[in-house]
Amino acid sequence: MPIIRASCPTCGDVDVSPGQMKVMLCSSNGEASYTFRCSDCHMVVAKQIERRVVEVLVAAGVKIQFWRLPEELSEVSNGPPISYDDLLNFHFELANPGWLDQVRRLIDDRGE
Ligand SMILES: [Zn+2]
Repeated sequence: MPIIRASCPTCGDVDVSPGQMKVMLCSSNGEASYTFRCSDCHMVVAKQIERRVVEVLVAAGVKIQFWRLPEELSEVSNGPPISYDDLLNFHFELANPGWLDQVRRLIDDRGE
């Protein structure tokens, strides 16, 4: 089994087997990264990588996982930005024990 030389920000160069690493490839913008848990410090390491490195890692047996940017990023927002007052009001609304029923009624009224 091939061993991959990766870099942990705390421990420096570490050896990782392909089964301990995962490549994450964003199908929305093509950006890629790898993640692994460092065997020395046990921290999860994530690092952005170029496309050619993706090919090398996948050829070595690293599993690849595709993901997409959330659709909300492309939504058009017409309202004003949320203020601290809005956040405080939201906090107080959540203190009301009937808040979930209120939300359900609002959604029902909108026909969704
Ligand atoms: Zn480490």
